[in-house]
Amino acid sequence: MENKNSQNRLWLSPPHLNGSELNYIQDAINKNWVTTAGDNIVEFERSLQNFTDSKYVVALNSGTAAIHLGLILLGVKEGDEVICPALTFAATANPIIYLKASPVFVDSEEQTWNINPVLLKNFIIERLKINKKPKAIIVVHLYGQPALMNEIIAISKEFEIPILEDAAEALGSYFYYNSNKIMAGAGSEIGILSFNGNKIITTSGGGALLTNDKKLAEKALYLATQARDPLPYYNHQEIGYNYRMSNISAGIGCGQMENIENKVLIKRNIFEFYKNEFSKYSFIKFQPEPHGTYSNHWLSTILIEKNSGITPEILRLELEKKNIESRRLWKPLHLQPVFNDCRFYGENNVAENLFETGLCLPSGTQLNETDLQRISEIIKKFIQKNLIS
Ligand SMILES: *Cc1c(COP(=O)(O)O)cnc(C)c1O
Repeated sequence: MENKNSQNRLWLSPPHLNGSELNYIQDAINKNWVTTAGDNIVEFERSLQNFTDSKYVVALNSGTAAIHLGLILLGVKEGDEVICPALTFAATANPIIYLKASPVFVDSEEQTWNINPVLLKNFIIERLKINKKPKAIIVVHLYGQPALMNEIIAISKEFEIPILEDAAEALGSYFYYNSNKIMAGAGSEIGILSFNGNKIITTSGGGALLTNDKKLAEKALYLATQARDPLPYYNHQEIGYNYRMSNISAGIGCGQMENIENKVLIKRNIFEFYKNEFSKYSFIKFQPEPHGTYSNHWLSTILIEKNSGITPEILRLELEKKNIESRRLWKPLHLQPVFNDCRFYGENNVAENLFETGLCLPSGTQLNETDLQRISEIIKKFIQKNLIS
């Protein structure tokens, strides 16, 4: 019988703690500052500010919390429409529902797999005709690949609809806008990051809200810390949230940020490795990186053409048999039972096709040359055995 654990398990994108995380945690404990205030939070926010070139950063306890607060700051209320990409993680859209607003899921384009600007514009024009202006546009940089931001920002400006940039997967990615280099998350009214365990850096769990608007940053901090008035007693005029990051988590983040540049380079090298290994197979395609964009390649993702005889699911099962974790692409949100009643705006089922043909390969920053060879050999062998030629 095959021993599943004869070789160590390779995970999709596990946490990688290799800096001075422990020193920062120790410092928090020594100073008895383990709550939602302290030096690590200040330091972590400052390092994110510098790295993303964003004026204000508010550290929070999840990326989802950051999206929730971001939508509140953009004025999203009950009954409003919020535009959201169809191909993303449910956490992008869930906060729309928290606010009793309605998501409208817009299909992907094929150049970056992100929200299609042509459909986005057509949808907005359609709604304006009946005087129903969408309240906000959520843009996601999927697997680290920046969306077509030049087109999307132009639409946002033309119709005066603000953007919330979900850069949960894209810390370290960037795009050019008017020949300026803009870091993912810092190119819109509001950006958000996630530091969940599998993201490019982690704080064990956490997120951040980015903005260049001082008032919005102050409001985010106020709402994230229970909306207390500055009075000697507890006084509240608004509903608040308990969304602030702890000083312990921020300490992990400080240690992680020491290596962010290196982590991006390693992720990009992993992507290049797979690309070279599979370049001889014309039916395998990689997530494109158009000119003027730079992806952190958080996850290396491939598409396997439908008539090749190999589906992402049988390849995933084969890798699983060999104790290697891979994962299907996000199942589009308009196909999720929980969003059954929500509107989908698309034409050619681009997101659905990406889901049906795509697979995320192991992309952890601790994968070494031997691990990568092991993954590649298994895939190549499997292809040779199963390919319809
Ligand atoms: C991970 C992720 C989130 C949610 O972040 P959490 O920190 O897990 O709450 C939101 N959007 C996208 C695209 C993500 O990948």
